[in-house]
Parts: sequence; structure tokens; C-alpha cells
Amino acid sequence: MKNLKLSALNGDAHKRTVITVGDVKIGEDFVVIAGPCSVESEEQTLETARKVKAAGANMLRGGAFKPRTSPYSFQGLGIKGLKILEKAKKETGLPVVTEVTDPRDVSWVCEYADVLQIGTRNMQNYSLLQEVGKANKPVLLKRGMYSTLSEWLNCAEYILAGGNEDVILCERGIRTFETYTRNTLDLSIVPSVKEVSHLPIIVDPSHGTGRLSVIEPMSLAAMAAGADGILIEVHHNPSEAICDKDQAMPTNTFAGLMKKLGTLRSCMNEINQGNSLGNGELTP
Ligand code: PEP
Ligand code: MN
Repeated sequence: MKNLKLSALNGDAHKRTVITVGDVKIGEDFVVIAGPCSVESEEQTLETARKVKAAGANMLRGGAFKPRTSPYSFQGLGIKGLKILEKAKKETGLPVVTEVTDPRDVSWVCEYADVLQIGTRNMQNYSLLQEVGKANKPVLLKRGMYSTLSEWLNCAEYILAGGNEDVILCERGIRTFETYTRNTLDLSIVPSVKEVSHLPIIVDPSHGTGRLSVIEPMSLAAMAAGADGILIEVHHNPSEAICDKDQAMPTNTFAGLMKKLGTLRSCMNEINQGNSLGNGELTP
């Protein structure tokens, strides 16, 4: 891959970017970002935030600006939504990850966001990338739904070249011929990114599959593949979700998933230290 001056490993296989947000170190700890697809109301966001915090999530997600496929779908609450996220952060202490869709909004959205999300539809919105490149907040850059690794890293490069060193990549599924799942979650991209870049990579199994029943196994698989975290949509009352209802995880299911991730984490630590099956022994 050519011309990746800032995002590539450039010969230093051990170089890893670590981004500190609140008390979590992205790229070192396994980070769990959870919350509703969109901020719908104060009650919905606060209730969901309290539950994901209690289950052990590290950050709260929620869209105030929703880039929707149809112009007639709910577009988000805008500033009102950001103020609700601010309230949820104040109560729970969870840093906020929220999407920005317009270069003109970047500077003031930074007053509410701890991490700026760039959605799949805007991965190649170069003026937006240049604007977040000047921001003093980390950027979570989702993979374009039709994008190759090289195209994705070139977009990260735009942000890095602007002076912002804190870029988190997020695999969110790509379009294939398969229609059973909403997208095809490309977990092979996780070790591939690690091979060529020092940037942390997290996985979004919610948009990546679009099916609640598939999200838990793919979350565990993301950890097993070496991801630095997951971003997952959780709703306190999924049947009422305005946006992405079919992939909204109930809070109790999320709490169960967090426990399983904790168990898998211990196994992964053992494997990474070469103490268990990782060293080729099949019996204790
Ligand atoms: C989101 O995370 O809210 C979102 C819209 O995701 P994507 O850009 O991956 O579709
Ligand atoms: Mn969504």
C-alpha cells in the first residue's frame, strides 16, 4: 500500500497508537461503546445509559445527526440530542461518541462529543475528513460499505495529515450478495489492519449484521480476531426503537454479553501469553 505516510506501520511492527478517552485506553484495553442508534428522548437515552454503564460499558454512543437512506426517515434531534447526551454523560460519567455529518458542525459538536464518529456514508467526504483533522477530539472512522482497506486507510490519512493523530478505525460490514444479514461483517479486516497500520480497530456487529441473533456471536468473534473493542447498539425498549429496531439489543442481553466477553478476555490473555491452546497443546 503506497503513500500511507502516517497510518502505516512503516517498518515498525510494534508501533501501536493508544488513544486515551476518560479512563479508557483505546488500543490497549478492550473498549465497549454501547447505546442507542439515535437519541430519541431524554428518558430513552438516560435509561439506556444507566443500564449499559451498570453492565460495564466504557463509553456511550448515540446519534443526534442521523444520515438516513430515506429523506423521510427520522433525521435525529440535532442539538437537542447532544444536550441529552451531555446529561447522560454527567449522570453516568460515560464519555460520548456521536456522529458528525457536516463540516460546518464539527467545531460546535466537539463541545458535546468525546469522540467524533464519521459514518460509513461519509467515509470519503473529504471536506468533512479535513475538518475533523483539525479538531482536538479523537475520530472514529467507519469503513465505507464499498471500501477496500487501502481506500479506508487513505481516508484515515486525510485526518492524520490534518494534524489529528487520534483515529480509531471501525469495521461495520460491507455490501456483498448476501441478504440474510444487512451487511457482511468482515472480521478478516481486523488482523489485516494490524498487519499494515498502527491505528486501533474496533468492530460494529450491529450494523455489520443487522440481526440481533447474530450480534452476540460476532461480538465474541471480534474479540477473538484481535479487535480493540466493539461498538454496539443497545435500547432500553427495542420494540419502540425509532431507528434500527431489528438490531437493537435489549439491556439484559447486553449485560449477559459483557459477562461472556469478560470470560473470553481471560482465555485470550492466556492464548496471547502462549500458556494455553495457543502453544499447540491440546490437553492440559
Ligand atoms: C451509526 O453507527 O449510527 C451508523 C449510522 O452507522 P453506519 O454509518 O455504520 O451505518
Ligand atoms: Mn444504527
